[in-house]
Amino acid sequence: MTARLILGKDVSEEIYAELRQRIENLKSKGVVPGLAVVLVGDDPASQVYVRKKGEMCESLGMHSVTIRMPQETTQQELMDKVAELNADPAIHGFLVQLPLPAHLDEEQVINAISPAKDADCFHPWNVGRMLIGNPDFLPATPAGVQQMLIRSGIDTAGKHVVVVGRSNIVGKPMAAMMLQKGIGADSTVTVVHSRTRDLASVTRQADILIVGIGKPRFITADMVKEGAVVIDVGTNRIDDPTHPKGSRLVGDVDFDAVEPKVSAISPVPGGVGPMTICMLMANAVKAAENALEAE
Ligand code: NAP
Repeated sequence: MTARLILGKDVSEEIYAELRQRIENLKSKGVVPGLAVVLVGDDPASQVYVRKKGEMCESLGMHSVTIRMPQETTQQELMDKVAELNADPAIHGFLVQLPLPAHLDEEQVINAISPAKDADCFHPWNVGRMLIGNPDFLPATPAGVQQMLIRSGIDTAGKHVVVVGRSNIVGKPMAAMMLQKGIGADSTVTVVHSRTRDLASVTRQADILIVGIGKPRFITADMVKEGAVVIDVGTNRIDDPTHPKGSRLVGDVDFDAVEPKVSAISPVPGGVGPMTICMLMANAVKAAENALEAE
C-alpha cells in the first residue's frame, strides 16, 4: 500500500486563499484585522515562531504588532501589557508566546486576556465554549489537524480516533473537537497518555491515529492498524551528522516504517507544522469579524 501524504502546506494555502478574501471584505468596511504577539525573553525557538507569525500577518495584509519584552519583565509589567492590548481597538486578537520565563505565572496571564481577543484560544472561557460545541475560536494546532482531515476528504463520522497525548495545547482540545457533532468530528474518541497500560493495544484499534507527545519516532509499525490514517503532530529535533545543520526534524511517528502500512499519513516536516500559524491567522480574522459585527 502507498499512503497518501496529507500536507499542511497544501491545506494551509487553500485556507489562506479564503482568509485573503475575508480580509479584503473587512478592509472594504474600514477594518484592518490586527494581531499582536507578545514575546518575553530570548528563547530561540519562540523568536522563530514569533517572527514567522509576524511575516504571515504582513503577507496577508493584516496589521501586525510584535512586542518584545526583556527576560526580567515582572508579572505586573506583563499584566499591564495585556490590559493595554485588551483596550487597543486596532488589535483584534493577540497572544503571549509560551513558554514564559519561569518566574512568570502563565495561568494568570492567560486568564487576563480578553476572551474576545484570545487568538490562541487558551482562555478557559473559550476552552469551555469549544467543549460545549459552541466555539468562537479553536486552538490552532488541533484545529489545523481537523482541517487537514476535512480538506483531505477523510470521513471522521463514526470512526475510532485515538489521540496520543493529553496536553492542554494538543491532546485534550483535539479529543474534545473530534467528539463534537458535525463535519470533521462525530468520532468515537479514545485518549492515551504516559500512564496508559498497553498503549499499543489501543493505538492498533485506531481508524485515525493523532499523535502529539514529543517523543521521536515513538509510534512504530506494529502499533498501527493496516489502512489507518495517521496524523503526526510531534516536532522533535534529532542529531544527524549527515544533515548540513547537524540535526533535523522528525515526528512522533516512525514515518518510514509506518507509511507502507497506512492509507494516509502526515509527514514531519511538511505535515501539521504549517497549519498552526494558519489557524492562528484564522482566529485573528474571526476576532476582527466579530468586532465589526458588534459595532
Ligand atoms: P507536552 O505538553 O509535553 O505533552 C506531551 C503529552 O504526551 C503528555 O500528555 C504526556 O503524557 C504524553 N506522553 C509523553 N510521553 C508519552 C509516552 N511515552 N506515552 C504516551 N504518552 C506520552 O507536549 P505538547 O505541547 O502537547 O506537544 C507534543 C508534541 O507536539 C511536541 O513534539 C511538540 O513540539 C509538538 N507540537 C507541534 C505543533 C505544531 O505546530 N506542529 C504545535 C504544538 C505542539 P502525560 O500527560 O501523562 O505526561
